[in-house]
Amino acid sequence: MQAMSEQRHRRLETDTDAGLLVIVSGPSGVGKTTITRGVERSIADSVFSVSVTTRPKTEADVEGVDYHFVDDAAFDRLIAEDKLIEWAEVFGCRYGTPRDWVQEQLRRGRLVILDIDVQGAVQVTKNMQGAFGLFILPPSEGVLLERLRARKREPEEAIQRRFAEAQREIADAQASGVYTAWVVNQDVNTAIQEAVGVIHEARTKVREGD
Ligand code: 5GP
Repeated sequence: MQAMSEQRHRRLETDTDAGLLVIVSGPSGVGKTTITRGVERSIADSVFSVSVTTRPKTEADVEGVDYHFVDDAAFDRLIAEDKLIEWAEVFGCRYGTPRDWVQEQLRRGRLVILDIDVQGAVQVTKNMQGAFGLFILPPSEGVLLERLRARKREPEEAIQRRFAEAQREIADAQASGVYTAWVVNQDVNTAIQEAVGVIHEARTKVREGD
């Protein structure tokens, strides 16, 4: 057992000391997933943390790429065994960040991207030192409402619920003290570039030992 864990924690030639945990949050409909995946593609040693969720899998979801889909009992076990860095209930389903995988990536000096909500981000910053928080904002509330409607996924009542939720999420983010960088998604490519820029700055500080 000991030998196995030593091997798992052995330093690889590619390991560095520049590991950084980046939290990306933003209200639903803001384009967060596109921006997060854009950032992942733009930074060579960045990795996206695939969360565990009890949300039902949709046709658009790929197991192990978008989420690890589990049932309630399995999620309860992960909590009991302290396997999650954080977890939260979002729109009635539970979502959580796997601890071992994230810690292993950080040990290797990688940039680990978490796409999580504000409640989760608050827990992560309490539990892990030096996490960098980035929040994606819509250009305006009106634009966010238009974007939620344009997805044509839901009836107006559900859209209004999501919109109210989004307004609360933005207010909670502002009050949380977790986010250092705020990027407005007016144009998605510009937003990706801006996000990459602020993350590079944060990483330089880690490298310089600030
Ligand atoms: P969706 O089901 O639309 O992919 O995600 C719903 C919300 O859950 C998003 O705001 C997303 O950021 C959040 N979320 C996804 N994974 C996690 C996680 O592991 N922890 C927390 N706290 N929130 C998550």
